Amino acid sequence: MLTEVSLYSELNALLPGRVRVDEPMKKHTSWRIGGPADFFVEPASRQELSTIVNYSRNLGIPLHIIGAGSNLLVSDGGIRGIVVKIGSGLNRLSIVDRDIKVEAGAKLAQVVTVARDAGLGGFEFLTGIPGNVGGAVVMNAGANGSSLSELVRQVLILRFDGAYTCKNKDAMKFGYRASILQSEPAIAVEVTFKGYSREKSEINQEMENYLARRRASQPLTYPNAGSVFKNPAGDSAGRLIEAAGLKGLRVGDAQISPLHANFIINLGAATARDVLALINRAREVINSKFGVELQPEVKFAGHE
Ligand SMILES: Cc1cc2nc3c(=O)[nH]c(=O)nc-3n(C[C@H](O)[C@H](O)[C@H](O)COP(=O)(O)OP(=O)(O)OC[C@H]3O[C@@H](n4cnc5c(N)ncnc54)[C@H](O)[C@@H]3O)c2cc1C
Repeated sequence: MLTEVSLYSELNALLPGRVRVDEPMKKHTSWRIGGPADFFVEPASRQELSTIVNYSRNLGIPLHIIGAGSNLLVSDGGIRGIVVKIGSGLNRLSIVDRDIKVEAGAKLAQVVTVARDAGLGGFEFLTGIPGNVGGAVVMNAGANGSSLSELVRQVLILRFDGAYTCKNKDAMKFGYRASILQSEPAIAVEVTFKGYSREKSEINQEMENYLARRRASQPLTYPNAGSVFKNPAGDSAGRLIEAAGLKGLRVGDAQISPLHANFIINLGAATARDVLALINRAREVINSKFGVELQPEVKFAGHE
């Protein structure tokens, strides 16, 4: 059995200067919550990514993939194994005709502005959704009645056995905040989106409208992770939580936002335990009052 020190030496020899030990995950989540990751690496190339995947497989070390951490609750005990952030080291983008080919570490916001500048419509509804392209594909991020899947042509995936494979839109099995990568974990590496020609000024106007709506309705001055629960069919989780009188409920420094009941905000020093207590409380109350089982939209990672 390799000790943590020898694992670090091996990893550091493979990826000099890139490996961080006991990295606080609160630095990598929009909630600003999360204990330490044993090892944390942000690969600067596909080759580095493959190196980590092969290394972890050969030694049987768990691998956890994250993007911008904007939909993620990491436990206070942190994450055992290697956390791999798909971020700015993998963010190349190119436009061919009306397709945008982009690596998974690029910010979704970058894709939206690049599309606008190229006169490519279809991406407007994504305005204001934080996170990276890979996370958005895994989550099938969406808003205003549209979702990312409508724009996807294909996704290049790196499986944990080290093989690259390309999945077309159908093979991604997209659903409401769902994709095949949630049930068959692998790494989204590159995505090809399709747009259509549209006047830049029209695109811009629509983007500004979306942004203004978000600013008015979301508690953006506090760390949060967007909507905590999926909307149940034909209803909205926020409406149910508000109707149950839970707006403003606080556990420790976590609070159900007084502005938007489907957001939980971090007032300063909230822990994952605080947030989980609010999540469980909301689920219990909504179930007993309305007979509705709320399903979390946010993803959970880590150990107690
Ligand atoms: C203020 C705010 C507003 C938001 N509004 C919206 C909204 O309107 N609509 C919406 O859908 N979401 C919204 N979100 C949630 C979030 O921004 C999206 O879910 C986003 O797409 C997540 O991307 P990420 O890179 O942050 O993913 P992360 O949170 O890092 O990860 C999400 C999941 O994907 C996995 N993952 C991440 N990257 C990869 C990869 N490359 N390969 C394989 N697995 C990966 C992770 O393991 C995790 O399970 C909001 C969040 C905030 C903070």
